[in-house]
Amino acid sequence: MIYDFIIIGGGISGVFSYLTYKKRKPNSKCLIIERNNSLLKKLSISGNGKCNFTNDYLNYKKYNNGENFKNLIINNKKILSLFDDLGIVYYKDEEGRFYPYSNSAKSVQTLLTSLINEDDVLLKTTIISIEYDKSSKIWTLLSIDNKEFKSKNILISTGSINYPSLGSDGIIFKSIKSLGINFTDIFPSNIYINCKETDVLKELSGLRFKACISLYNSNDHIYSESGEILFKDKAISGIVTFNVSSKLAYLYKNHLISKPYLTIDFMEDYSKDDLLKLFKKENDLNKTLLGLFHPNLANILYQRCNNLNDIINDIKSFKFEIDSLGDFEHAQVTCGGIDSKEINEELESNKFSGLYFSGDILDCDAPCGGYNISFAILSGIKVGESIE
Ligand SMILES: Cc1cc2nc3c(=O)[nH]c(=O)nc-3n(C[C@H](O)[C@H](O)[C@H](O)COP(=O)(O)OP(=O)(O)OC[C@H]3O[C@@H](n4cnc5c(N)ncnc54)[C@H](O)[C@@H]3O)c2cc1C
Repeated sequence: MIYDFIIIGGGISGVFSYLTYKKRKPNSKCLIIERNNSLLKKLSISGNGKCNFTNDYLNYKKYNNGENFKNLIINNKKILSLFDDLGIVYYKDEEGRFYPYSNSAKSVQTLLTSLINEDDVLLKTTIISIEYDKSSKIWTLLSIDNKEFKSKNILISTGSINYPSLGSDGIIFKSIKSLGINFTDIFPSNIYINCKETDVLKELSGLRFKACISLYNSNDHIYSESGEILFKDKAISGIVTFNVSSKLAYLYKNHLISKPYLTIDFMEDYSKDDLLKLFKKENDLNKTLLGLFHPNLANILYQRCNNLNDIINDIKSFKFEIDSLGDFEHAQVTCGGIDSKEINEELESNKFSGLYFSGDILDCDAPCGGYNISFAILSGIKVGESIE
């Protein structure tokens, strides 16, 4: 059988592409091929299990390489009206993040899966190669267990190589590259950041602080965000650090990195003068520090500083030299992917007709906040709308 449309990867992007396409062409022969034993596995754990699916501040400027998707990422209206149509009730938090009213990513997974015709899904099947026959204009897909599938159009919505435990490990990249399709360099993003001050990190490991974290590159200020910071043995983590990692990954990807470091302001709501007054109330530095911080941090500040000025500088701007981004195994997204020059506005390959890409595999990623699921949805819809 020759399908009209085969979707490789039943994640968020692939599923929304399917729903859009099937609505337009209910009688078409369409198949989703997914290697996991169920669809939408990554969605089912997204947003700490709550599924932060979009954001009020959605626009292309939020994204690394977003300018190449200007016409796709405009606002969240399309996503919200789609969720309304699907009967998914949602709410918005004070930071503009949207969640399903159920607070359950699994409920979204179950509902979306129920909308897909069972005969249109093939699970536990991993596609490892794609080939195009120019004369017949037909694509042939080969699975790891040697099954062949033929289709007029194919969508590669396999995700990238981050979080491979949920199916996205880039196993199909080799075959895509062999067609002469280029990828930009890729880096893990929305991930913890490994730093060089391992003694300090070990001492603080497991502790959380409300603080402001800033990224510098060659002493240029790149980005700052306030929120909860979590210390690990060799790294700094937490959502705000994930957002910093998004900017850092962009620097790595574009070969702009030069002596990057982080600073942490442990008392954002106090100026240096405020701190000076506070410390002058009491002669015993150690006692004042213990009145302000967890003993481990108080001890570090006390041990490494020679005088009050040093202590205040460290409280306001504790420096951590960056060693590297965390690993792909735990990264929420990948920075980089299919080079935007390879695709047109419909997300179809410029080199091959009938070959489309959507979601994480494309070179477009954003910090946390619902932006990445939004991009997966919008790009999937775009392909579903485009295929004739
Ligand atoms: C822990 C975690 C939490 C997250 N939370 C949020 C959040 O709250 N909000 C947000 O906006 N973003 C979040 N993200 C990011 C978001 O989940 C991704 O951006 C999104 O899933 C990308 O969708 P996708 O369809 O492109 O890829 P995926 O969701 O990764 O789907 C790709 C699918 O393709 C399948 N596949 C891969 N290769 C093959 C193959 N060769 N053959 C067959 N099938 C294949 C995979 O098994 C997978 O099911 C989170 C990510 C993680 C890891």
